[in-house]
Amino acid sequence: MTAQIIPVDPFDYIIFGGTGDLAKRKLLPALYHRDHDGQLPDEARLIGASRSKHSDKAYRKFAEDALREFVPDDQIDEDTLKRFLARLHYLSLDVTDDDGWDELKKLLGDEDRIRAFYLAVGPNLFGPISEALEKHGLTDTRSRLVIEKPLGRDLESAQALNREVGAHFDEEQVFRIDHYLGKETVQNLLALRFANALFEPLWNNAHIDHVQITVAETVGVGDRAEYYDKAGAMRDMVQNHLMQLLCLVAMEPPANGDADSIRDEKLKVLRSLAPIDADNVGSSTVRAQYRAGAGPEGKVDGYLDELGHESDTATFVAIKAEVENWRWSGVPFYLRTGKRMAERMSEIVISFKPVPHAIFGKDAGTPISNQLVLRLQPDESVKQWIMIKDPGPGGMRLKHVPLDMSFAQTFDGRSPDAYERLLLDVIRGNQTLFMRRDEVEAAWAWIDPIFDAWDETNHPVATYTAGTWGPSQSIALIERDSRTWNDGTR
Ligand code: NAP
Repeated sequence: MTAQIIPVDPFDYIIFGGTGDLAKRKLLPALYHRDHDGQLPDEARLIGASRSKHSDKAYRKFAEDALREFVPDDQIDEDTLKRFLARLHYLSLDVTDDDGWDELKKLLGDEDRIRAFYLAVGPNLFGPISEALEKHGLTDTRSRLVIEKPLGRDLESAQALNREVGAHFDEEQVFRIDHYLGKETVQNLLALRFANALFEPLWNNAHIDHVQITVAETVGVGDRAEYYDKAGAMRDMVQNHLMQLLCLVAMEPPANGDADSIRDEKLKVLRSLAPIDADNVGSSTVRAQYRAGAGPEGKVDGYLDELGHESDTATFVAIKAEVENWRWSGVPFYLRTGKRMAERMSEIVISFKPVPHAIFGKDAGTPISNQLVLRLQPDESVKQWIMIKDPGPGGMRLKHVPLDMSFAQTFDGRSPDAYERLLLDVIRGNQTLFMRRDEVEAAWAWIDPIFDAWDETNHPVATYTAGTWGPSQSIALIERDSRTWNDGTR
C-alpha cells in the first residue's frame, strides 16, 4: 500500500549555508526524495547561498556529489536527479555584508510563491540574516524562516535569539526544527494516543508505572570536541529532543490537531515539570563523560583525550523528571542520552503497572508488566509487549511477546527521513511539528537551574567506558526505585 502523494504549492527554498554539512547530508537528500515522489511542483527552485564562490553549474556538481554520497545507490534515479539538479541555483554572499541581497531579490522575482529561508548557518547569523531579509523587502507573508538547534545555550540567549528573529518575522512565519518531531514513530505516538479508545483511559498514574526516554549514540565527538564542549549532552540533546518527546507522551489530549492546540498542551507539560535544584540534583541527575573504550570502529579515545584539556562538560546525562499534575503525579520520567554508548538507539518506553494479583501458579512464570515501546532509531517501530499463553500442551506457561503495531511492512519501501516531512510542512505552512518560541524558552527555564545546581553542589562528573550503557550512577538512579533501564532488549 503506498500513501497518496499530493504536490505542494510552488516555492523557492533558499538555503543559507547551502554548501555546509547540514545541506549536504540532510537538506538536499530530503528534497531530492520528495522530488522523486512527485511532490515538488515544476516551478520549485532551490537556491544555495554561502560565501564561497560557485557558479550554478559548480553548485549542481556539488549537490550531485552530495546526493551520490548520502542517498543509497538504489534510490538514485537518474531522471529525478537531472530534474532535481536543474532546480538548483547558487548565490555567493556573505550574510554579514550588504552585497548580494539585491541579487537574491532579483533572483526571487515577484512571483506569487512561497519563499522558505532555511538558515543552515550558525545561530550568530540568524539575527543578521533576518534583518537583511527585512531590509530588502523579503519578509512579507510569502516568506518563512526555518531555524534549527542550537536555539540558545540558556534561557537568556534563547530569548535574545527569539527577539532578534521576532523583530523581523511574525511567529507564524518562524519554523523551529526539532527533527525528532518529524519522525514517523513520533506521529504514530499521537495516532496511538488520540485515534484509539484503547490507550487514553490507561494513560495516567493509575496504570502507568514509569516512562523511559533514551537517545543513545555510538559516535564520539571526534574532531568536533572543541565545538561540542560548549554544549554537551544537556544542551545538545536533552533541552530539545528528549524534552519534546517527553511533552508528546505527557500532554493532555489537545482540542484538535491544530499546531497551537498541540503546542499549548506541550507548553503546559514543560511548565508542570518539577524543578530540579541544589536540594534534589544529587538524587535526580547523573552527568558523565566517556573514557577510552570501544566504538563501532574499534578502540576509541576518551572524551578528554579528544578534547586535549580538562572539562566538566557531560557527554552523558540521566535525569529523573517528574510532571507535577493530576495525570502524572508519582510517575517518574527517566531520561538519558549519551555519546559512545553500547548501541545507537532512541526509544520511548511506557511501562504499565503490574497486574494487581497473580492467578497462575509459579510454574506458569511471573507476569511481566506490559510495555509500549516506541523505537525511533535505528529502525522505527512500535511494539506493545503483552503476556500470552505459550502455545502448546503442558499447562499454563506465560510468555512475554511483542505485538507489532507499526505495520511498517504494510507500507511500501523506504521510511522517509524526518527532514522530508518537515521541509515540506514549512511550505504547507503547517507548524504542528515545529517548536513555538514559548516552548523553547520554557524548556530552558527548566534546564538552567540544573546547570546552576550542578555548579552550586559541585556535582561530580562520573565516567563510563566508551561502548557501554553509561556510568554505574545511571543504573543506580533507576534501580534505587526498583526499576531497570530497557537496554535495547525490547
Ligand atoms: P557547516 O558545515 O560549517 O556549514 C556552514 C555553512 O554556512 C557553510 O555553507 C558556510 O559556507 C556558510 N556560512 C558560514 N558563514 C557564512 C556567512 N557569513 N555568510 C554566508 N554563508 C556562511 O555547518 P553545518 O554542520 O552545516 O551546520 C549549520 C548549522 O546547523 C549550525 O548552526 C549547526 O549547529 C546546525 N545543525 C547542523 C546539523 C548537521 O547535521 N550538520 C544538525 C543540526 C543542526 P561558506 O564558508 O562558503 O560561507
